[in-house]
Amino acid sequence: MVRPAYRSRSLRRVKVRVPSGEVRVHYEKRRANVPHCAICGAPLQGMPRVRKGSHESIRPPTRPYGGNVCHRCLRLALKRAVRASSS
Ligand SMILES: [Zn+2]
Repeated sequence: MVRPAYRSRSLRRVKVRVPSGEVRVHYEKRRANVPHCAICGAPLQGMPRVRKGSHESIRPPTRPYGGNVCHRCLRLALKRAVRASSS
């Protein structure tokens, strides 16, 4: 039996052929999902695929709601806001 921390499925199992020729199981952290737009669900551009908690060297797009909402939804929302306020 492997050690208890490795029984969890929160780590993915990767089969690796080691130099002696045998195949061993290595345990790796799972890859994070692509960030998606909060409104339409489209994948966001300019955002790295990192897991929560690792916020070093992440610079989201500098526009308002950059990193949360895609550029198309922001454009639509700004247009709607301007039209609602002018009338
Ligand atoms: Zn969107």
